[in-house]
Amino acid sequence: MPEIDGWTLCHRNTALRGMGRKCPGLIVIIGPMHIMKFGGSSVADAGRIHSVADIIISRNKTDGVPPVVVVSAMKGVTDALIAAAAAAESGDTSYKTALAGLRQKHHEAVKALITDNSIGTTLQTEMDFILDELGEILHGVELVRECSLRTNDLISGFGERLSSLLVAAHIADRGVRAEAVDARKIIRTDDDHGRAAVDFNITENLIRTRLVDRESIFIVTGFIASTADGVATTLGRNGSDYTASILGAALNVESVEIWTDVDGVLTADPRIVPDAWVIRELSFQEAMELSFFGAEVIHPYTLIPVIEKDLPVYIKNTLNPSAPGTRIARTAAPKDRPITGIASIDDVSMITIEGGGMVGMPGVASRIFASVAKSGANIIMISQASSEHSICLVCRREEARKAADGLKKDLSDAISSRMIRNINLTDGLEIIAVIGENMRGQVGLSGKLFSALGDSDVNILAIAQGSTELNISFVIESRRKSEAITAIHRAFIG
Ligand code: ASP
Ligand code: MG
Repeated sequence: MPEIDGWTLCHRNTALRGMGRKCPGLIVIIGPMHIMKFGGSSVADAGRIHSVADIIISRNKTDGVPPVVVVSAMKGVTDALIAAAAAAESGDTSYKTALAGLRQKHHEAVKALITDNSIGTTLQTEMDFILDELGEILHGVELVRECSLRTNDLISGFGERLSSLLVAAHIADRGVRAEAVDARKIIRTDDDHGRAAVDFNITENLIRTRLVDRESIFIVTGFIASTADGVATTLGRNGSDYTASILGAALNVESVEIWTDVDGVLTADPRIVPDAWVIRELSFQEAMELSFFGAEVIHPYTLIPVIEKDLPVYIKNTLNPSAPGTRIARTAAPKDRPITGIASIDDVSMITIEGGGMVGMPGVASRIFASVAKSGANIIMISQASSEHSICLVCRREEARKAADGLKKDLSDAISSRMIRNINLTDGLEIIAVIGENMRGQVGLSGKLFSALGDSDVNILAIAQGSTELNISFVIESRRKSEAITAIHRAFIG
């Protein structure tokens, strides 16, 4: 614990966890209690930004310690930036119209959100500077007709730079101290552009050093980071959730709040199951599984930093701030049903490799996986019958095609010697995953699951179960997705 003039400086968390009792009267509390992250739809326009500021300001009051806030770009901005970069690369000057649109969108928000003249002028100048820089970069891309992943990272991060300035200025305009922070200065990554990996040791030091002042509410850009050389990188699409948890872990806050536009993590996609309901508590493991299988509320990497520090994450609704949301923590209250939630991945394809020659032959799987890795495809699900007569791999459609072509080439010797009879590709499929801590050791669960599907006439093409028994995933035809999810929800979740 740091000390100044005999006062012990400690984090409010630590104080609440018992420090206060050990040295009463000697404690000065430092550090934020909460990280609050607001996604693109929460900052979609001036009205939404105003409500977000209400939430932030009220948290600042009740905590007595300013929260650290992470914001995404205004809704649609990242997509527009990426599309503009692609247009410029192909020599299509429509990127100029897109840029003008972005300028107007942000100008309008400034007009609606800022009343103080000097705050407005400063903000407008800063934004124009950033937008001009963006214009120059896009023009450069048009001239060289090339947009590398590195340049794409630089361009796609402009939305967060603008939104963080806007939100900070609006809060300041309402008389509360707030300051925008560019995360490129505090999140250090490697140069794997498009999905850079965080260097946690350096990052945690940078965060603790930069965010040490506890006088203002920091409004940090989500999604963006930089390399040791200061080259802009991104944490991958929807990476702002991850930014929030990186900050939360570094600052050891009490909780990380992900503010979105739904009441929490739902038992299933409400577009398919209208009576899906909010799961009040999830374990880290369940939430990981759900996010990997496409439950859209949280970026899959988000939980990695917080699990290590054992910090709870709350999913909250900006449109309904008083709703309790979903709490994700090491342990969740026991549930009275075997399945916690259902998630699914659309538009996948299955590669089936069949042949009598694969039976009992060591090394086949390793050749298959090496070949798929070489073609850059990510395998989402694997299933092999114990007869070893066939192996199924499921990948996203675009990647599956490349992988299948690569396999045919790389295994051509085995194909011509008839060890492998066939490599087939089936498109138009869907992976459904059912997830729940209570599935562990439940005898008869998969029987009940598959008979529910059978009763609804859904044909299952492949099945996989993780050895943690937390997840059973299976592949069906996409067109049967609704029936399948509805049938499972009815049978197990109700
Ligand atoms: N704005 C970025 C994206 O759209 C990051 C985020 O929203 O989390 O991917
Ligand atoms: Mg998001």
